Amino acid sequence: EGGGNMAAGGGGGPERPGSGGLALLGLAPSAPSCPHGPALLFVKTSQGEEEGRRFYACSACRDRKDCNFFQWEDEKVSETRLAAREEYNRNHQPSFTHRQNVERYKNFVLLPLSKRRFCQECQQLLLPAEWEKHSEHQFLSDISTAQLKSPSQLLRPLENKKTNAQYLFAERSCQFLLDLITDLGFRRVLSVGTPRLHEMIQSKASQEEDFRVRSLLLDIDFRYSQFYTEDEFCHYNMFNHHFFGGEAAHETCRKFLYQDNGERVIMVTDPPFGGLVEALASSFKKLMAMWKETEKEGLYYNQIGHNNQEMPMFWIFPYFFESRILEFFPSFSMMDYQVDYDNHALYKHGKTGRRQSPVRIFTNLTPSKIVLPVEEGYRFCAICQRYVSSGNQHCEICNSCTSKDGRRWKHCVLCNKCVKPSWFHCNNCNCCALQNHTCEKTGAGCFVCGKAGHKRSTCPSLSHT
Ligand code: SAH
Ligand code: ZN
Ligand code: ZN
Ligand code: ZN
Ligand code: ZN
Repeated sequence: EGGGNMAAGGGGGPERPGSGGLALLGLAPSAPSCPHGPALLFVKTSQGEEEGRRFYACSACRDRKDCNFFQWEDEKVSETRLAAREEYNRNHQPSFTHRQNVERYKNFVLLPLSKRRFCQECQQLLLPAEWEKHSEHQFLSDISTAQLKSPSQLLRPLENKKTNAQYLFAERSCQFLLDLITDLGFRRVLSVGTPRLHEMIQSKASQEEDFRVRSLLLDIDFRYSQFYTEDEFCHYNMFNHHFFGGEAAHETCRKFLYQDNGERVIMVTDPPFGGLVEALASSFKKLMAMWKETEKEGLYYNQIGHNNQEMPMFWIFPYFFESRILEFFPSFSMMDYQVDYDNHALYKHGKTGRRQSPVRIFTNLTPSKIVLPVEEGYRFCAICQRYVSSGNQHCEICNSCTSKDGRRWKHCVLCNKCVKPSWFHCNNCNCCALQNHTCEKTGAGCFVCGKAGHKRSTCPSLSHT
């Protein structure tokens, strides 16, 4: 059912107050750093307990195996441990800098095809002098220019079961996004965690003279620095807004946003789904603020300024995070378009045999402008003023096209809203649920006090009259 599982261990649970467990407090000004930049502050509460204990943990890795940084907020850290930590952080930076990788690339493309090797184990382009060191490793040879232009095909997608798996857009969806972006008149794309979209833009720009869209990729996957210059890629952590390349990389991003007074820029992001929506939202707000600063450059810009507008954005995320995203970005709305991936484990097979993706586009652009492909069954609802999926029926009572998952939803008069087709109204629970649900049982306990056995509507800690 739904995608609740997808968020397990990171999504709804940890950020929910009062339910016992883990809550994100955010970026603290004096946060210690791990190799992934400033750590995030969390609070751990036991059920029913008033105040929990606060601690810092890595912002990027939810799996302790990837980064085991941990520190209680009130912990006294000795000078020796601080020094050791600094050294550890230094030693855990990539072996080549971005600058070095750019140089290496220049040399690599000068090689004849027969000498162009890519080490699959180290995920690295190899220069002949380095072959020796990788002699035990599997490698690909005859790396063509076409392959260099599509690194997302060459690199093995990162597979981290917990949260950092890389899910690459299917060709269909990537092309749709790019067509949409160009049809809307955008000229620059800030690609945050969308290497495949970036790559499609870059290779089109190098092949078609009249294609004027440019892209800057911000991603934590440093392997991409082997293929892009410092003006095309910044090593960036979207959970703490950290630029690994320091002020210079920050400036690259700023410059990119400032071109043409910040006109015709859109940010597109497809973050890992493991939760921490709040951390993502806070970083995205900082990127938006960076864009907004273009207005302050002078009187002229002030006059034509962005009229209090937000930087246009596509945030690609599963539909069941809708309320969380809207909490932080009330101006956003969710589009019905189903974003498809090449390697996604979370598909369900629909009746049509087509894989049903739970992933949608959230945007602050006017919904009616987001034209969805009619060939795929999307149609325009004149009342809602947006394109909806073929199964999404306009409900007269809700006065909106209410389906979230593409299936036709049904209206429940008792709940006074539309619900999934597989749900029935349960008089015990006083809401709609799956027929075989267990009454009054919610995994996380009461939303208000966190205790099991009742729901928030009957919580004893609230006074009922
Ligand atoms: N669908 C996209 C890829 C999305 S997968 C495409 O095809 O282009 C999520 C992306 O976010 C990956 O590229 C991954 O490297 C990146 N990512 C994961 N954690 C990140 C973090 N903390 N900061 C920045 N990027 C991150
Ligand atoms: Zn190797
Ligand atoms: Zn409608
Ligand atoms: Zn309805
Ligand atoms: Zn109901």
